[in-house]
Amino acid sequence: MAKALLLFPPQWSPQHPHFALRALAGHLRHHGIDVDIRDLNIEYYDHVLSPVYLQRVRDRLHLDLEYLGTQSSFRLMLDPHSVDAHLDRVRLQAIKRFVDEHGEMLNHLPHLIMDAKETLKDPRRFYNPDMLIEALQVIDLALKAASTPYFPAQLNFNYFEQPGLMMNTNNLIAQVQDRRTNMFIPFYEEVLPDLLATKADYVGISINCFSQLVPGLTLAHMLRKAAPEGLHVGIGGNFFTRVTDALSQRPEFFEAFAHSLCFGEGEDQLLELVQALDRGESLESVPSLLYLDGGEVRKTRPRKALPMDQIGFQDLKGFPLDKYLTPELILTIRASKGCYWGKCSFCDSFYGVDDDVKSLDRLVEEIRFLRDTYGVRHFQFIDEAMRPAYMRKLAQRFIDEELNITWFCNGRIEKAFTPDLFEVLYAAGLRMVLWGYETGSPRILELINKGVGYQQRFDILRYASDAGIFNFNYLFFGYPTETREEAQMTIDSICQNTDLIHAYGRSVFTLNKQSPLYLEAEKHGILEVIEDVEELSTTLTYKATSGMDDTELRDALKSCTRQCLEAYEYGLWMYLRNRENIHLYLSRFGSEGVKNYRMERLAGATVVDNP
Ligand code: SF4
Repeated sequence: MAKALLLFPPQWSPQHPHFALRALAGHLRHHGIDVDIRDLNIEYYDHVLSPVYLQRVRDRLHLDLEYLGTQSSFRLMLDPHSVDAHLDRVRLQAIKRFVDEHGEMLNHLPHLIMDAKETLKDPRRFYNPDMLIEALQVIDLALKAASTPYFPAQLNFNYFEQPGLMMNTNNLIAQVQDRRTNMFIPFYEEVLPDLLATKADYVGISINCFSQLVPGLTLAHMLRKAAPEGLHVGIGGNFFTRVTDALSQRPEFFEAFAHSLCFGEGEDQLLELVQALDRGESLESVPSLLYLDGGEVRKTRPRKALPMDQIGFQDLKGFPLDKYLTPELILTIRASKGCYWGKCSFCDSFYGVDDDVKSLDRLVEEIRFLRDTYGVRHFQFIDEAMRPAYMRKLAQRFIDEELNITWFCNGRIEKAFTPDLFEVLYAAGLRMVLWGYETGSPRILELINKGVGYQQRFDILRYASDAGIFNFNYLFFGYPTETREEAQMTIDSICQNTDLIHAYGRSVFTLNKQSPLYLEAEKHGILEVIEDVEELSTTLTYKATSGMDDTELRDALKSCTRQCLEAYEYGLWMYLRNRENIHLYLSRFGSEGVKNYRMERLAGATVVDNP
């Protein structure tokens, strides 16, 4: 039987293993496939956040400071138009800024880093807010130091980005080989021999989000180049599902990165791919696959995903559980797929997803398996939106089965959420709901087509709050035609309702390629120009008929953080960095405990209101 090696490249949270690898490994093993997994994301964070690496970074920064200026001047003398030399100049400026600002601390980082990591893992220190936030600050600085030699690359605790990179095949091929700005190449060079030594027949790289794109494709490129005869390198994950048409026209993408790419929901097709490779069969019978054949890209027919009840349990075997930077693991889990509403104009989260609901028997069995085998007691449901009626049944079952877990989930604010439902949900372990609040402007709410009355939302938030549930509200600025005044209405609505909106996560509107707003642009009538300038991007460039310009938008974002910091009186949640940490604190101290804790003493610390 064929052997599979599944890889999860950076960047993702270093606190919890991603769902994709656990789900794929579990399903393949359930069908008797020999599977190894490597969570290269946590391995990379562990590697970078080490005394040895940070000592090397310090030495490298000092060397760059000493030589980069002379080198670039010399190159500019020979060729005044040298792009490389100009880029080195910009990099040098970034290094100077960093060393001027943090030079002293740079020497201490190698001594502080192990202690900071230990703080995140040790419950006695993690649940002490002052210690936790101090440790996060050390880690922030270490990651900034590690990124600076590769400027403009930016790796942080919650994100990775490569500013200025255009999402086209040729640019990506160049970026994955650029040793000056690609911070992942040296790490992959170290682990590559190990990966190849597994003698796998199939190596799958799971790319699920934008922050994984450069690191994931860098790994794919290096593996594709080093792959011995017979090793099949594949890419999976849902990032590329939205751009399969563009990829069908790009054989060079496959020559550079992978023999094949699974799109859509992956468990079943990956199993069939591995089985087809094992039998030496053609790939044309494998569903939802793009692959290179004689210099051309072939696309096989998409197939409906396997019912959720037939997918193997997610499995943590092979994950380095001691490396995750948390005292208690939170695992993501799914009870259903698709959104029962599915009409919000900006949203494409249901694209490529076949609606389905897991039976409660199966769900409970899976939770029990993860709880009893790995001691996991915290879960995040990643369902796009669960129906309130289904949630009631689920909660009652959790209570009857005495699962004794805590969990959080997404929610669509709607009237079926009644006070008594929230009471049952709380009793079943629900501690936080991530609501799609979106805006404080009645006009924008109408345009978004959320399907809930403006004022009614506050009643529902109150019912949840009264039951002890923490309301975390997603919102965004910059919806086409939104004015600065309307953005201010959003800020005001948060500041005036901090007793109901206990925390928020803000973002900037992006026009998704599969959103109703784009697909039915004429009907909506608020977009003037739409351009698809980045073939592998899931978003589009556009100009709205009216609304804020970039300066006003930036001003709105800054005002939001500034005014909310005051309104929440430096509330603890703003410093906890992400929803997972907020959940752990809620499970330990309750909603009131988190809401009432103030962080005045650390007013200068990093504040994150877009966790
Ligand atoms: S934003 Fe939420 S409620 Fe609206 S369509 Fe998307 S998943 Fe459904």
